[in-house]
Amino acid sequence: MPGEPQADCLFCKIVEGQIPATIVRESDTTVAFRDINPQAPTHVLVIPKVHYRDAAALAAAEPTIAADVLREAQTVADEEKLESYRIVFNTGAGAGQTVWHAHAHVLGGRGLEWPPG
Ligand code: 5GP
Ligand code: ZN
Repeated sequence: MPGEPQADCLFCKIVEGQIPATIVRESDTTVAFRDINPQAPTHVLVIPKVHYRDAAALAAAEPTIAADVLREAQTVADEEKLESYRIVFNTGAGAGQTVWHAHAHVLGGRGLEWPPG
């Protein structure tokens, strides 16, 4: 069922504390933790506690939680004192999505070229 925890989902396991993560923030609906393979000095993932395969599915089903993810991403950027930063939702394998639980990347602390590769 969409929204229900998935037994084989890495990020559901992080939400449930079954896999360790360096958690930087937690709210009723979200968890933010450092990416295990950082691509910038700050690289934090913000995820909803509910399971949806990508950000679009989350926004369609639970728009207030999608807004929570964005607000938490902004708060992470503020706490990390990032003057400039990027919030990314890789959506689909061709765009680099590898974990099928919606997540925002918050990247900053270095120059970020545009357009990205
Ligand atoms: P995607 O490629 O799906 O947009 O992003 C998935 C991200 O999850 C990648 O940046 C990857 O480094 C990160 N990641 C994968 N496995 C783990 C893990 O076990 N712990 C943490 N903290 N990050 C992970
Ligand atoms: Zn999940």
